[in-house]
Amino acid sequence: MNQNNAVLEIIKDVREYLLSLKETGVDEIGMAAVLTKAQQLQMLRDKIGDCRRCKLWSGRTNIVFGTGSPDARLMFAGEGPGQEEDRQGKPFVGRAGELLTKMITAMGLTRDNVYIANVIKCRPPGNRNPEDDEIAACKPFLNEQIDIIRPEIICALGTFAAHTLLDTKTRISDLRGRIHESGKYKIVATFHPAYLLRNPNEKRRAWEDLQLVMKELGRRF
Ligand code: URA
Repeated sequence: MNQNNAVLEIIKDVREYLLSLKETGVDEIGMAAVLTKAQQLQMLRDKIGDCRRCKLWSGRTNIVFGTGSPDARLMFAGEGPGQEEDRQGKPFVGRAGELLTKMITAMGLTRDNVYIANVIKCRPPGNRNPEDDEIAACKPFLNEQIDIIRPEIICALGTFAAHTLLDTKTRISDLRGRIHESGKYKIVATFHPAYLLRNPNEKRRAWEDLQLVMKELGRRF
């Protein structure tokens, strides 16, 4: 474990401990003494650095880390950056992103009060599917983002996100439509917006999945 990782682990442990104290009624210890989620995310971004952990580094313009609220109760996880995301360094800003934004708006939310990230942070050449070694190299960063944000529910967009987060190879159409409990997190898998653009008939089922998410959040935004 390098020094940065070790510091991050200590911070996480201290934060966990202070939160447990808070739950037992102790709140004299100023939480300002602990790093905010935004600061922890920035540390994670710094750790990723100018990443060369897999072969995708050579073709990327920007690492697409994630955007939105570090305090989000809902997190979306997509597959990986496309051309426009690679150009701008932000997730879901192309055509699929426009649809995702509409889906978020239809839920009564904005992109600013959810968090959006991808399984892989660099664009695969020609938008091909991510390969196993690329997912393996990048997955720990998505997991760390999730552990920092601690969302109440995660919406996995498409096959790669669902398979990665649920550690399964089951088809997305068999995974969708219910809430999965995976470790500490609740996950709803649904169709990827790019798939929905090609198959608009499936939008109805995707909307059912988003309604499940909204019900779980109790519309308390
Ligand atoms: N598709 C994804 O899975 N993620 C993006 O950021 C954009 C398109």
